[in-house]
Amino acid sequence: MDVVTVPGVIKIKPKVKNKLDCPVCGDIAQLVTEYNDFYVGKINKKICVNFTNYQCDSCDESFTTTESDELNLKEINKGIRNFKRQLKIQKILK
Ligand SMILES: [Zn+2]
Repeated sequence: MDVVTVPGVIKIKPKVKNKLDCPVCGDIAQLVTEYNDFYVGKINKKICVNFTNYQCDSCDESFTTTESDELNLKEINKGIRNFKRQLKIQKILK
């Protein structure tokens, strides 16, 4: 299965805090953005998007918030749009 990579750097909205208290150990968890593969059933493909979550160094837990989930959803939708655009271009070039 091919992996579609979405180029570009994610823009963190101000409402997404860079740091959050870890719900597990109470230490500070940092906002981390990294590439992650997601399988999208709608297009039967894996897409690679910027995935944002919080990671705690003290207890190694990671978690998301409503705000970071929103960002991730937007990234995935952007990935799907990019993929569909690529498909269209390939059809035109054939
Ligand atoms: Zn923790």
